[in-house]
Amino acid sequence: LSDRLTLTFKNLRSKGRVTDSDINATIRDIRVALLDADVSLPVVRAFTSRVRERALGAEVHEALNPGQQVVKIVNDELVEILGGQTRPIRLAKQPPTVIMLAGLQGSGKTTLAGKLGYWLKQQGHTPMLVAADLQRPNAVTQLEVVGERAGVPVFAPERGNVAGYDAAVEYGSGTRGYGDPITVARQGVAEAQRQQRDVVIVDTAGRLAIDTELMQQAADIRSAIEPDEVLFVVDAMIGQAAVDTAVAFSDGVDFTGVVLSKLDGDARGGAALSIAHVTGRPIMFASTGEQTKDFEVFHPDRMASRILDMGDVLTLIEQAERAFDRREQQELTRKFMEEEDFTFDDFLQQMSAIKKMGSLKQLLGMMPGMNQMREQLASLDEREFDRVEAMVRSMTPFERNHPKQINGSRRARIARGSGVTVSEVNQLLERFGQAQKMMRQLRRGGGIPGMPGMPG
Ligand code: GDP
Ligand code: MG
Repeated sequence: LSDRLTLTFKNLRSKGRVTDSDINATIRDIRVALLDADVSLPVVRAFTSRVRERALGAEVHEALNPGQQVVKIVNDELVEILGGQTRPIRLAKQPPTVIMLAGLQGSGKTTLAGKLGYWLKQQGHTPMLVAADLQRPNAVTQLEVVGERAGVPVFAPERGNVAGYDAAVEYGSGTRGYGDPITVARQGVAEAQRQQRDVVIVDTAGRLAIDTELMQQAADIRSAIEPDEVLFVVDAMIGQAAVDTAVAFSDGVDFTGVVLSKLDGDARGGAALSIAHVTGRPIMFASTGEQTKDFEVFHPDRMASRILDMGDVLTLIEQAERAFDRREQQELTRKFMEEEDFTFDDFLQQMSAIKKMGSLKQLLGMMPGMNQMREQLASLDEREFDRVEAMVRSMTPFERNHPKQINGSRRARIARGSGVTVSEVNQLLERFGQAQKMMRQLRRGGGIPGMPGMPG
């Protein structure tokens, strides 16, 4: 990313007040930086207008100064365009899960087949690769080598078994090739089923440029094997051209996800942003080298910071957000001290606030005036906490607000619903009753001593 943008962010961050002209200047710099990173112009336009709108709308984020807010907006928008969250492979209900690879020649499909196979195997799957690229004479051999390196079996047409394998022939849609890739793909999936492999990765042919015949072949393979995922593999180094390719494959074959390959080069990730934006398909994996292990699950947030090159800013924002959460928590504590009676609903609310913030012990470290309770609660095991939550979630809204009304049959039902014994439910109710009593006494006594903002 341009040093200029880094500087812009640095200046912006330290600003207590951001004027419209600051925002405009920042947006100009972001625009230049994105274009520099090979993001396509329409995407840059859409992106900057969203950022401007949000920045001028000045969402108030208490823990951040206005400069930090703009940086955060830019980052959030990038993550959003990149798909928000990592999208995992959708496994078929009925194995095998069929994954088809599509993309231009040289984009890295065959290499990816090995990487994906290896990765899936590490995850406990039993993958198989299928060599349905019969366009070039050595494509099958290449996949066999890749498969061997990854320790994943390869289904390939037997030499001489597939009509015309040894000599270029005309097949199905009239394309010249070394056999019929549609038949091979179908046979490969059937073989995987027979061997009870749970994932099949089908490698297909590509051409150097977008080509209707080849697109037709890919579409035909797709309809023949009905894959659960069609992964479009694209070389991140080709920059702007990646977008046209993505659009052509999106129209011609349609894909369910994207794999960015060759991200190890000095590709700046701009292609990622454009492809995600233009096709609306999630980027699922990144290929980062020629070795089998050079493969990663794609994380939108990490790519966003790669594009913005501002790891330190993100850390800063995270810290600020944590500080903000702490204030929210104090607010909640005060609210519940003023409420009529402490109910199980309040309890659930507290629980979710605690969960949002991390572990119980961390939380206690943040809350002032909690010294006495800290020791008591520290002995509470977090799993115990989950059990308690399960019990509360098994209560009806009426029961949560009227704990005293929970009779024997209700207790039995709650125990069944949450998978605990009735005596555990009894214990919870008893402890809860004591806590309620304690809360009432505290309120009458004028609050917890040492709690800021509280009387007494
Ligand atoms: P295909 O034609 O789509 O099957 O592409 P290949 O898998 O044969 O890859 C084409 C070339 O790119 C090969 O020389 C690979 O070693 C190389 N390649 C593939 N993926 C990557 C990657 O992530 N990083 C780098 N540096 N090279 C890669
Ligand atoms: Mg190949």
